[in-house]
Amino acid sequence: MRIVHHSSEPEFFTHCYSCNKRIKSIDAFADLDSTAFVYYCHTCAWNKQYPPGTEVILTNDFGLSEKTRTRSIAWDLGDGTPVVKVAGRTGGYFLQRIRPVDES
Ligand SMILES: [Zn+2]
Repeated sequence: MRIVHHSSEPEFFTHCYSCNKRIKSIDAFADLDSTAFVYYCHTCAWNKQYPPGTEVILTNDFGLSEKTRTRSIAWDLGDGTPVVKVAGRTGGYFLQRIRPVDES
């Protein structure tokens, strides 16, 4: 499965195919291998591709890169911000600041 960030102009609203969350097209992810054209939110796109234990690079508060592993699935905070738990840190860490090692 290859799910990529899908940014399109003009911007429109759609719904995540998995969790039905309302998402902006600019935040949507599309599954390149699906025969139907479906969108996923960042959280669902992540969870479909990267299980807990995935090696990741995170960018910390000082802008430095750290190698670690996820230790949960991703979820949305109350304001819709996607986060995931990582080894060596408590609470959720912003998914926007994390990328899998094999794609860096
Ligand atoms: Zn979703």
